Amino acid sequence: MTGAVSPDRRRFLATGAAVLGAAVSAQLWLPDTARAAETPLPDGLFSLGVASGDPLPDGVVIWTRLAPAPLNGGGMPNSTVPVQWEVAEDERFRKVVRRGTAQARPTYGHSVHVDVRGLRAGATYWYRFRADGQPSRVGRTRTAPAATSSPGGLRVALASCQNWQQGYFTPYADMLAQDPDVVLFVGDYIYESSPSATAVRRHEGTGEPFSLTQYRNRYAQYRSDPDLAEMHANAPFVVTFDDHEVDNDFAGDIPQDPGKQAHDAFVARLTAAYQAYYEHMPVRATAVPNGPHIRMHRRLDFGRLARLNVLDTRQFRSDQATSQAGAQDPSLTMLGAEQKRWLLKGLRGSPARWNLIASQIMMAETDLKIGEGKLWYYDAWDGYQAERNALLQQFRGVRNPVVLTGDRHLTMVSDLKENYARPTSATVGAEFVGTSISSNGDQDQAAFRKQWDPLRADNPHWKLLDAHRGYHLFDIRRDRIDAQVRIVDTVLRPKSTPRTLARLRVDAGRPGVRVV
Ligand code: FE
Ligand code: CA
Repeated sequence: MTGAVSPDRRRFLATGAAVLGAAVSAQLWLPDTARAAETPLPDGLFSLGVASGDPLPDGVVIWTRLAPAPLNGGGMPNSTVPVQWEVAEDERFRKVVRRGTAQARPTYGHSVHVDVRGLRAGATYWYRFRADGQPSRVGRTRTAPAATSSPGGLRVALASCQNWQQGYFTPYADMLAQDPDVVLFVGDYIYESSPSATAVRRHEGTGEPFSLTQYRNRYAQYRSDPDLAEMHANAPFVVTFDDHEVDNDFAGDIPQDPGKQAHDAFVARLTAAYQAYYEHMPVRATAVPNGPHIRMHRRLDFGRLARLNVLDTRQFRSDQATSQAGAQDPSLTMLGAEQKRWLLKGLRGSPARWNLIASQIMMAETDLKIGEGKLWYYDAWDGYQAERNALLQQFRGVRNPVVLTGDRHLTMVSDLKENYARPTSATVGAEFVGTSISSNGDQDQAAFRKQWDPLRADNPHWKLLDAHRGYHLFDIRRDRIDAQVRIVDTVLRPKSTPRTLARLRVDAGRPGVRVV
């Protein structure tokens, strides 16, 4: 019932109560919305800013969360609050094309996700919210191109791994200047680590988050980074999570260290972490969590130019192998049967020129053993050899597959090979591992070279390796993808200087990637 109370009705109830001097007992039947109107809400309702995401040809999700005390549970009363929203064709809201009222409910941390529909394809829109007389800032967003259209270009930014304690999120300032159509974030949006006294900036709280309130506070702190907030307010994001949104290296309902977190406690942690994730991300209602489960794998089409398959490589995976032999066990799965079927169907039946796969973790091989023999990271696709190899074989029948990845805190650009055991096997695609926004901070580049360059002979599919902080920018066209590795000189100060480290190209119809 509370959901049906309009702002006008709410105002009427509030006024009525004041005029009649209503007794407390008379309020008991009133819905939460009415009770909230008795006292004005605190200032600063929109401290977390605005965001948008998951663009469709006819719509986009617009997001906000009411949180006048963002680092202290939000600071809202335990009542539902109506939030008015408007979408316009112009920045000054002279041509409002959609408007409505959403309900910010305490059960979702007073977050609001409006799935605005009825918009024009491939168009820019502005949006804003208002609650209890307080206006939000204005956000800008963009819908996807029409399904049957063949857009001339699409600009995508690939970001991942933003550790608050290890640096400022300054690569977003450059990303904003590059004006992408969409930002793809492939995981480690927050880090669950405890506050460190020696950090560049310190995590809030007193330890790792476990409860919903603790995760809410952590997300709220991350959103207070001005460059991240500005980027969210200026382009739609497509997000997926990796491990640090919950617990390092978790797999399904198995924590990193089962000896330290009992199963029931970890399920409760997953439930809290997924709910806080939903509450803070501009995602559709399909991502409303169901206890310790959240639907994150999904597909977004950008006309006939590009199809984006967003994977979930955390919830359905088998526990990590602990040996080279274990990594080759054919019973291990990364995607789970349902998601694997869904992915293959979406790849084979795709009408798109480019078939992008957003994977949290690297797909190309990383052989860490110099010379004879191999040594893999078991948390990445290398640790799930049988399923990875089968997937790469399927890429032969897919039009222009390109994998976009994070996790490594490095730029790693690779050819995807049909069989990494045979370096001469066919190249079936390209992969970009998009370094990190801030994780690992400013790395010692010489030390990095010393450690990684000797591995290049064992990994001839690597085309570019680098350890600067930043992101990758893709200009996707019919005949090619032009990629730029955009880096910053430092993340240890709130302002940085950006530059292009390298340009790469993927040509349509010719699998693989090259530095240009
Ligand atoms: Fe990370
Ligand atoms: Ca080797």
